[in-house]
Amino acid sequence: MKYRCKVCGQIIDIEEGDSCPICGASPDRLEPLEEKDDKEEKK
Ligand SMILES: [Zn+2]
Repeated sequence: MKYRCKVCGQIIDIEEGDSCPICGASPDRLEPLEEKDDKEEKK
């Protein structure tokens, strides 16, 4: 799964729950990258 790291700004491809392999940021600082249409927004 792809994430964008909010700390170092890199696009990374890791498993959910992993930390950033570039800078070691914790998973809660990673933003999932979704290339789908976001028609359904979570409330
Ligand atoms: Zn990072």
